[in-house]
Amino acid sequence: MAIATVNPANGETLKTFDALGPEETERRVAAAAAAFRHHRTTGFAERSQLLLRAAELLDDDCDDIARTMTTEMGKPLAAARAEAAKCAKAMRWYARNAERLLADEHPPEAEVKDAGASYARVHYRPLGVILAVMPWNFPLWQVVRFAAPALMAGNVGLLKHASNVPQTALYLEDLFRRAGFPEGCFQTLLVGSDAVESLLRDPRIAAATLTGSEPAGRSVAAIAGDEVKKTVLELGGSDPYVVMPSADVARAIRTAVTARVQNNGQSCIAAKRFIVHADVYDAFAERFTALMTGLTVGDPMEESTDVGPLATERGRADLEELVDDAVRRGATALCGARRPPAPADLSRGWYYEPTVLADVTPAMRIHHEEAFGPVAVLYRVRDLDEAIEVANDSPFGLSSNVWTRDEDEQRRFVRDMEAGGVFFNGMTASHPALPFGGVKRSGYGRELAGHGIREFCNATTVWHAAEPDRGRS
Ligand code: NAP
Repeated sequence: MAIATVNPANGETLKTFDALGPEETERRVAAAAAAFRHHRTTGFAERSQLLLRAAELLDDDCDDIARTMTTEMGKPLAAARAEAAKCAKAMRWYARNAERLLADEHPPEAEVKDAGASYARVHYRPLGVILAVMPWNFPLWQVVRFAAPALMAGNVGLLKHASNVPQTALYLEDLFRRAGFPEGCFQTLLVGSDAVESLLRDPRIAAATLTGSEPAGRSVAAIAGDEVKKTVLELGGSDPYVVMPSADVARAIRTAVTARVQNNGQSCIAAKRFIVHADVYDAFAERFTALMTGLTVGDPMEESTDVGPLATERGRADLEELVDDAVRRGATALCGARRPPAPADLSRGWYYEPTVLADVTPAMRIHHEEAFGPVAVLYRVRDLDEAIEVANDSPFGLSSNVWTRDEDEQRRFVRDMEAGGVFFNGMTASHPALPFGGVKRSGYGRELAGHGIREFCNATTVWHAAEPDRGRS
């Protein structure tokens, strides 16, 4: 894939970049390794000051970087501004909480004694240079939620961003540099995915995190496994959105629209499969379809736009194939299932109409695959057991949304949903203080919160023999 900014709203190529050659890549990997030798010895206070400065700069740059993101991948401008603000918030959160999250852990005294020690603790040390392979859909957020905890833990980062967001990728390197992080602490490598294998096999790179598709995750995990290197994988999702009769159905419907079309429908944690109890299904289907039909599809730079173009021409073609396959095999399109008809200015971009499909069966690809665009699938279920069965009938297990006020039902969903999260009476959203990640083919490991910062740490056991005259280190 060429490294280029191509505006999805009109297909125009605005800027192209040459991939880094082997010599420049080598220089940067060496700079990262050198930076780690120093950065690992700095304290939380120093790192925290640098990260707080980065957050301040990001707030100042909010409008400019939001426009860059919208130009590169088509998200509505207001959503791009919100993403930048969220990144600044996460930086501040890690700047203020990292020391607490990585504080030494002290086992109970009786257990220390039982382990034959006078004193024992777990101490968290950084792993080294971490390679981050990142996607375009939240081009700032995906990187910051890796970089903020990594840098606070004393690691350093090498970013291989998606090839269609090079300007956002370069902005991130510049941001951390301007904030005062020493040379080599955070660098962007403008390289294609073909360069990832040799980076993963480089002994100076300690571990990798990948957010992206299942094939990319499988490839990175296989190579890292061969090198016995730690990975965190945040892959695709096809999150269920269950609505039970006790729910506030009107609110569930309004939220369902946002949960499906946020980021032009290209979010891993977007609700994609709407599993609705038969008692409320007809009302849900009718109102949800009306709201989806009423959304404004258009130029993502316009404040009035609800849904912009898909980020790539290939992405739209993939989505069209999924929908066409379902309709050909008997699904009912309650709305959409096509590109928007004229005006001409929309025909140049990679737009797709918000779509609602009913009567979907397991014979259709969309039942099992991720629809990465504004396409919702509706299922009618008889009861709680069938709701859980349909929700879990997916290779993915990222998050899940459940609308019910019944506490017994809530306990069942918490016990039985095969997912990394269960969000009740609202939609899934990431927050710096809450762990984020999935099970099954949605990947493994966690980002955010204490879980995220500890993924790339060496939990070091410190043990002192129980001789009376031994001191503490
Ligand atoms: P993608 O094609 O997998 O690309 C993601 C990143 O991986 C890009 O930097 C890409 O580089 C690189 N890449 C692709 N194939 C690779 C390979 N074989 N080896 C090494 N690197 C490779 O995914 P995408 O289309 O950008 O993103 C959409 C997918 O990401 C969706 O499935 C979505 O659900 C998932 N996602 C998951 C999360 C989560 O937190 N779980 C969050 C966001 C997105 P190039 O651009 O150079 O190809």
